[in-house]
Amino acid sequence: MGSIEVIKSWQMVKAAEPDEVLPALALTRKDIPVPELKEGEALVAIAGCGVCGTDIGYFYDGIPTASRPPIILGHEISGTVVAGDPLWLGREVVVPTIIPCRRCELCQRGRANRCLRQKMPGNSYGVYGGFASHIPMPSRELCPVGDRKAVPLSHLAVAADAVATPYQAAVRAQLKSGDKVIVIGVTGGLGIFMAQWAKFLGAETVVGIGRNQAKLDSSLDYGVDFAINSSGKPSSEIRKDFFTRCRKKRIDPKYGWKIFEMTGSRQGQETALELLAYTGVLVVVGYGQDIIPYHLSKLMAFDAEIRGTWGCLPEHYPYIVDRILSGDIRISSLVETRPMSAIAETFKQIKLGGGSPAKRIILVPDF
Ligand SMILES: [Zn+2]
Ligand SMILES: [Zn+2]
Repeated sequence: MGSIEVIKSWQMVKAAEPDEVLPALALTRKDIPVPELKEGEALVAIAGCGVCGTDIGYFYDGIPTASRPPIILGHEISGTVVAGDPLWLGREVVVPTIIPCRRCELCQRGRANRCLRQKMPGNSYGVYGGFASHIPMPSRELCPVGDRKAVPLSHLAVAADAVATPYQAAVRAQLKSGDKVIVIGVTGGLGIFMAQWAKFLGAETVVGIGRNQAKLDSSLDYGVDFAINSSGKPSSEIRKDFFTRCRKKRIDPKYGWKIFEMTGSRQGQETALELLAYTGVLVVVGYGQDIIPYHLSKLMAFDAEIRGTWGCLPEHYPYIVDRILSGDIRISSLVETRPMSAIAETFKQIKLGGGSPAKRIILVPDF
């Protein structure tokens, strides 16, 4: 292969002419030089990059990226190493969403996913991100892909975030065989994988909560035992529905539930707090900007916990990718690929669509 001199990319830049949907930013085609690769670095030719709700948040909702625009968004990446580290040359990889420093105390104590000096492609990794032809990466963090049989490499991009983040959430919750689980936002891009992990890790009961009835119905094929439509309902009413459904199935609704809040929405967070009860664990996976009042002493009375979870440890990725390749975690019917040149209309469509799209959209470079 000849040497690669430029990275072709779609960059988020300050807009010259703001329109009604995009107030301040625009997506534009730009070439940038391939940086000089140091020892231990690899250049990954991107096979696919998933569009995450976080990208839509950066682009439309004023959530700032740590590296200021111009920046290439995109953090859900799979590809092939085409230059740099000879040990990795030619290998297919999934790129973790987090690049820890590997030197600090948090890194050394097994909390590298929350390393304070971490870099994230498409956020805090200089200009570099996934909506591009290539990305330079420290090879030590890359996850090798084994025999992927009929699974397209581009599809494995979802492993990086949509599948990995729920796995880390399950680890945070110490999810184990026999657990009772509630997934709030099971209809979202990450929620359906949260449900799959819960079932795969041995949860006895998985309850899915969401607003899209068609997606709730299909969630029953992905590990959800029963689903509750929360559309237009206050959290107190969702709780009532939950109690009724549990009692019908002779499951106690009041204790031992592990609740995963995936949406970051006010309604989702209020529902999570409403359902948190005796010996329960609430894991906050979704990000939102609402402030929800809560009677904190309930945690004492309930002997319950609230935990946050951030990204996923790169160490978990080989296991995660193997579970996908073995079919334990199903992705093929949950992803859709599009050419990367459709990035602007795809962003707009997701924004205008309100909720998450029918399938996780993966953009495939077509420069
Ligand atoms: Zn994401
Ligand atoms: Zn660190």
